[in-house]
Amino acid sequence: MYGKFKEHLQKELHEIKEAGLYKSERIIASAQDAEITLNTGQKVLNFCANNYLGLSNHPELVSAAKEALDSHGYGMSSVRFICGTQDLHKSLEKKIAEYFGTDDTILYAACFDANGGVFEPLLGENDAIISDELNHASIIDGVRLCKAQRYRYKTANMEDLEEQLKLAQSQRFRLIVTDGVFSMDGHVAPVDKIVKLAEKYDAMVMVDECHSAGVVGDTGRGVTELYNIRGQVDIITGTLGKAFGGAIGGFTTGRKEIIELLRQRSRPYLFSNSIPPSVTNAGIRMFDMMSKTAELQNRLHENTEYFVSKMIEAGFDIKPTKSAICAVMLYDAKLSQDFAASLLKEGIYVIGFYFPVVAKGQARIRVQLSAAHKREHLDKAIAAFTKVGKELGVLK
Ligand SMILES: *Cc1c(COP(=O)(O)O)cnc(C)c1O
Repeated sequence: MYGKFKEHLQKELHEIKEAGLYKSERIIASAQDAEITLNTGQKVLNFCANNYLGLSNHPELVSAAKEALDSHGYGMSSVRFICGTQDLHKSLEKKIAEYFGTDDTILYAACFDANGGVFEPLLGENDAIISDELNHASIIDGVRLCKAQRYRYKTANMEDLEEQLKLAQSQRFRLIVTDGVFSMDGHVAPVDKIVKLAEKYDAMVMVDECHSAGVVGDTGRGVTELYNIRGQVDIITGTLGKAFGGAIGGFTTGRKEIIELLRQRSRPYLFSNSIPPSVTNAGIRMFDMMSKTAELQNRLHENTEYFVSKMIEAGFDIKPTKSAICAVMLYDAKLSQDFAASLLKEGIYVIGFYFPVVAKGQARIRVQLSAAHKREHLDKAIAAFTKVGKELGVLK
């Protein structure tokens, strides 16, 4: 049997390569940081990690993880409701709820699982999910697993959202769902306006804070802080795998009864292992750090403003951003790849994105800023962008 299937797969892989869509992986031989060492020995400045706060290799989190290895062991070997709940898990759930100003939190192995397991237990075929067209793949998959009626609106477009809400009025319950920050453009969803429309059309609101938590808002508490609407979003999902230390783990936080029902019915929670004690304890330590100071957010916001303003000054076409994502627009797919390759030679690691990851003719380089970047890192990156931009005819 495998012989024919193998041929089929080889053909498909060949087609992916022919189309220029084959993804290969660059191998890092150091810890994740502002500066990393590749397996080729080359040291590069890293501008493509979700390490927004520079916590991926933070000494306090590393020691919190080590302490928990000694006190609570290596693994859980169980789902939460059998014997996979430690005091650490309960404590982390409480800290996440405090951080976001919500009632309660449920942990998952990843935010992909949080999003995969949130819709199906809560909504049925008489209900409606109204989803931003640019929402993350995990939201799309989660919605697919649920029987609710589906509506889609143009990204961050409030007229279109209102249209869809009108169409969904005959359903029993309505849930609007959006990413907080959209990862390819860096724009923030207008959640203040979404909350108002939700009130007008009797809907609930869910925000996926994966790229916004820890990042947007003066103290990093996400979109509800940015728009001063704490307590008005019913469901927030997020990850421990990006700004919050970058290890692994996801969560859903929100209204008490919603979280309680998810603990009873959410399949990725009921049928998958608990996150390990070391990661859980580092998460607790991280939220303790966040509650004491906004120093890392201040540095991240300063770095982003500096980088974006200097890049605009240099003549680059930058998508308006309120996050730590800076999309340098190049439009042409091949140019985006050549540009990224030339930057790597200059010691700057970034990724060029093109169709189908972004719309056709919208190729770009996505730069992700971090609190770990020092001013000289930013200056080196801006100089390299300018040099390559001139070489490739992007800048005059
Ligand atoms: C990264 C991301 C996820 C997935 O988070 P993991 O914890 O890595 O599974 C979900 N939603 C959005 C918007 C993301 O950016």
